[in-house]
Amino acid sequence: MTAAPSTHASKTHWAVRMNWRNRSVFFALLGLIVGLHLHQTGRLAAGWAWLVLQFAVYPQVIYQHARRSAHPRRAEERNMALDGFCFGIWIVWMGLPLWISFILFIAVCVNLVVFKGPTGLAELAGVVVAGMLLGAAIFWPPVWTPDTSLSVSLLCMAVLTAFLVVFARDGYLRAKGLYESRKQAQRQLDEIRMLQVRLHDMALRDPLTGLFNRRSLDTALAEALARCQQAREPLCVLMIDIDHFKHINDTHGHPAGDAVLQALAHLLQSHVRASDLAIRMGGEEFLLALPNVPITQAQERAQALRTAFEDLQVAYGAATLRGTLSCGIACFPGHGASATKLVQAADAALYAAKLAGRNRVVAHAAQEAPVS
Ligand code: GH3
Ligand code: MG
Ligand code: MG
Repeated sequence: MTAAPSTHASKTHWAVRMNWRNRSVFFALLGLIVGLHLHQTGRLAAGWAWLVLQFAVYPQVIYQHARRSAHPRRAEERNMALDGFCFGIWIVWMGLPLWISFILFIAVCVNLVVFKGPTGLAELAGVVVAGMLLGAAIFWPPVWTPDTSLSVSLLCMAVLTAFLVVFARDGYLRAKGLYESRKQAQRQLDEIRMLQVRLHDMALRDPLTGLFNRRSLDTALAEALARCQQAREPLCVLMIDIDHFKHINDTHGHPAGDAVLQALAHLLQSHVRASDLAIRMGGEEFLLALPNVPITQAQERAQALRTAFEDLQVAYGAATLRGTLSCGIACFPGHGASATKLVQAADAALYAAKLAGRNRVVAHAAQEAPVS
């Protein structure tokens, strides 16, 4: 018996490799037991050549066949059925020795059930009976010598124990390998999910300020509005724009303008609650959505923001940058019942604030409609 070269072995289906190893060892041991039994019953001289063929040559031949097969696993299942068929013939020829018959049957039985489930049992019974019938036809009339010697019985017990232990160990190692690869797959899946969440978040955030970007406005505002509609609560939208921002850029450079944008974003974040929405709409324009905030309170909060920004000094190199902002406010339900309407209304109010001289807060003109 020579081992297949390692490159071939690694390409061989694991079931074929495992059965080849088990067959090579256990068929040799079974051959020893059968040979001892034949010797003790005076039939070794008539059967030694078959003994060598069956227990030494056969495992290698069927291994090579399964290894080269286009469907190695199916070929291996056929091999297992062939094991049972051959054992049927041997059992009849030997006169149904109980211990030997038992371990031959159980060895194939365990193998087939592991690979094919309980249907393997029915198949095994079929092939063993077929083998026995052929054996009975060849060796007619069959002899009946069920007793085995103490030495054969003890050998059978030892071999069966070893077989089961090796089989259980294989099963354990395989289950452990599967468990570990499953865990690894789960880890990779978690990593992919985390990356997806990060990617999704990155797509919705503005890289300069860390606030949500314009892309997130439609869904986030519509969701917040739907919640307020359902709870019969007001929702205020504040449209904020830095006054004469171009002047800051022109005087101190674009990076200085960026610093002012970041400072305002920071201020906005420190002024909002967890339930509020802070979005950079683009350029130096920002939007706040304040659920469950009536217009009077929204105006107060906008004024507080405005003065806080007016007082803010942004250090940039040697320069200290200052700015003001204008803010337009529109509220649900008074100024619109959809996200688009509210944003348009807040925009109109912001335009009015700019026209009125900037650095101020203006609520939408239709505010006469009371907002509770
Ligand atoms: P107004 O008071 O009417 O709002 O005047 P403004 O100068 O603030 O508005 P305008 O729309 O004329 O200029 C906005 C400027 O904002 C023009 C643009 O170059 C600048 N800007 C847009 N995005 C960015 C940015 O990400 N960083 C910087 N530094 N500047 C930006
Ligand atoms: Mg501006
Ligand atoms: Mg602008």
